[in-house]
Amino acid sequence: MNDFTLSAADAVEMNNLLSDCERFTTSFLGYPVAKDFDYSPLFPFLQYPLNNLGDPYISSTYAVGSREMEKYVISFFADLFRAEPDNYWGYVTNGGSEGNLYGLYLAREIYPKGMVYYSESTHYSVQKNIHLLNLPGIIIKCQENGEMDYDDLEEAIRPNRHLPVIILANIGTTMTEARDNVSEIKAILRKLAIRHHYIHADGALSGSYAAFLDPRPAFDFADGVDSIAISGHKFIGSPIPCGVVLAKKTHRDRIARSVAYIGTLDTTITGSRNGHSPLFLWYALKSMGITGLKMRAENSLATAAYAVERLNETGIAAWRNPNAITVVFPAPSAVCCRQFQLAAENGISHIICMPGIGKSQIDRFVAALQQEAAVPA
Ligand SMILES: *Cc1c(COP(=O)(O)O)cnc(C)c1O
Repeated sequence: MNDFTLSAADAVEMNNLLSDCERFTTSFLGYPVAKDFDYSPLFPFLQYPLNNLGDPYISSTYAVGSREMEKYVISFFADLFRAEPDNYWGYVTNGGSEGNLYGLYLAREIYPKGMVYYSESTHYSVQKNIHLLNLPGIIIKCQENGEMDYDDLEEAIRPNRHLPVIILANIGTTMTEARDNVSEIKAILRKLAIRHHYIHADGALSGSYAAFLDPRPAFDFADGVDSIAISGHKFIGSPIPCGVVLAKKTHRDRIARSVAYIGTLDTTITGSRNGHSPLFLWYALKSMGITGLKMRAENSLATAAYAVERLNETGIAAWRNPNAITVVFPAPSAVCCRQFQLAAENGISHIICMPGIGKSQIDRFVAALQQEAAVPA
């Protein structure tokens, strides 16, 4: 065993980082990251080089990994997202961005001449993804609330009807948590008689709890999508960024390629894959179950409703989309944005009422905004 002991100065630096992590985790409100997890029973696994390289469903020659847990996580979400029981496939990714890249990659392999349509509220990583894949794309206008403007979508597709249509639908946009309606999108494809189409749902933010909402948004396999990506470190919570991508198995079969070196299929974007993340997600899903996840969503929705009410009471024009945990308001001062780690874009800002954020934290935030309003800059 090598000597892994730190010098005194390095140990101090490390401890300082630990207290910063604690402090900054407690104070943030502006990013969709759950902070209420406790994975301490999994700490012993940090001593092992877990790696789920290759396809989760085909064992590899390398045996230190968590494939069984990964398959459970995939089947859990396949069920929640109403996939056909014998026609789904997926894997645990490094995050929502990789899942979106994967969905678009499958779409391109099926329709190399396809045109991608995505709204102006789409996450910044998608533009990069379609650039990486060398796909042409058209940006669609949004409605006030951040949801795709379906009339604009129809107008954009109409002159390109001879090309296969690839849609990236947002199930919760980054800034306002607006959801594009997959049923509306399908209706346009039917109206224009588009036979060749692929719909990928970016559910990074609210895909993990969309199934618990009433009314249930149109976003999943039964509603007509071909693939869905979610983030694991957002609503569920994980110390390491991660996500899940699910696709129809028939789509993934088109890209499967056997690789002798790893003894499995090379069906994922990266070769080596994090074997700890599936374990975290498995632990969270097993311990919370559907009931626990649903309760988490209800708590977050209640906190968001409370935040809108409190902010409105103090004269701040806060609002949220129906059944959203993101609360939008005019961007406060830079000092306030730094204090609560708030993103600001085009004059608006938001807090995201993730699991682990309670009313007391909302109260502190409202008080800070109130104080700021009282002291003119
Ligand atoms: C966070 C987010 C992403 C990117 O997901 P990562 O897990 O950070 O890679 C993509 N789309 C939306 C709408 C998001 O909110």
